[in-house]
Amino acid sequence: MSEHSTDQLTFQNPVTRFPVISPPVQHQPEPGLDQELVPQTDRGQHSYRGIGRLTGRKALITGADSGIGAAVAIAFAREGADVALSYLPAEEEDAQEIRSFIEDAGRRAVLLPGDISDRDFCERLVAEAAECLGGLDALINNAGRQISVEDIADLPDEQWTATFDTNIHAIYRICRAALPHLPAGSTIVNTTSIQAYKPSPHLLDYASTKAAINNFTKGLGQQLAPRGIRVNAVAPGPIWTPLQVSDGQPKEALPDFGTNTPIGRAGQPTELAPAFVFLTSPESSYVIGETLNVNGGTPSP
Ligand code: NAD
Ligand code: MG
Repeated sequence: MSEHSTDQLTFQNPVTRFPVISPPVQHQPEPGLDQELVPQTDRGQHSYRGIGRLTGRKALITGADSGIGAAVAIAFAREGADVALSYLPAEEEDAQEIRSFIEDAGRRAVLLPGDISDRDFCERLVAEAAECLGGLDALINNAGRQISVEDIADLPDEQWTATFDTNIHAIYRICRAALPHLPAGSTIVNTTSIQAYKPSPHLLDYASTKAAINNFTKGLGQQLAPRGIRVNAVAPGPIWTPLQVSDGQPKEALPDFGTNTPIGRAGQPTELAPAFVFLTSPESSYVIGETLNVNGGTPSP
């Protein structure tokens, strides 16, 4: 890919901005790594151009090592924010790569590995992020796990609980811990999914958490609006990330991943970043409790 062919500021056809991919059948243990994904993703590392929309902001981003979270971290740094990265210890390699992009942008990167399904870690994560960044005014709750299981009879209680702990209980805990640090003007953006409205039969636990995230976003958005803190969400459609190859999809579905969207292709992580930038920047000051769908054209309620 040439340096600016996919630049988000250049006029171009969205159908051809990124190629239609047909990923080979592959598998990685959970959590997957971007480093080992075939084909590689576009997180905007060669293309995203910032124009100062988040100058001086201090952001904590969960799941920031790879996929959508990594694209958001790169964009935030290039828009002028310092960034604390939350990820699992097994993802150090991916996190270090994103750290280098943030530092290349002249911003601070704070690396905070740990498991957000652990209640106490959620508190420590927020405290360390605020201490290392010298405050906190942007929170991106993006981490999530997605394990496909065809039959409810084979869906273990442990998986159901772990998915809820990671995808929604952690959001509640991290938001609660973050609030004392967040001045008026701060923002929270949660990553939900098209699965919140159109659940796949093999993603019962995952899709249920995503519906909960939408609902939580609308409730907390109303609660915090009078304090000048805005809460919104982004709902991606099929985006090519390591989540998909670490049992997020049935393996045989990978070659056709994302081709059933109106636009006809899977999304790349960098295509999500401007939505998070918009909802974090003051330019969206009157947007509260909203879910911005970034899904290649599939209608949502
Ligand atoms: P990804 O695998 O790159 O990112 C998910 C991240 O979640 C991981 O990198 C990991 O750091 C983090 N994570 C998972 N369990 C964790 C735990 N217990 N503790 C700490 N961190 C943990 O995949 P992605 O697709 O970029 O996923 C980002 C978000 O986007 C997720 O919430 C996912 O549900 C959502 N989403 C993805 C798609 C898609 O098609 N890729 C579609 C809709 C929604
Ligand atoms: Mg990862």
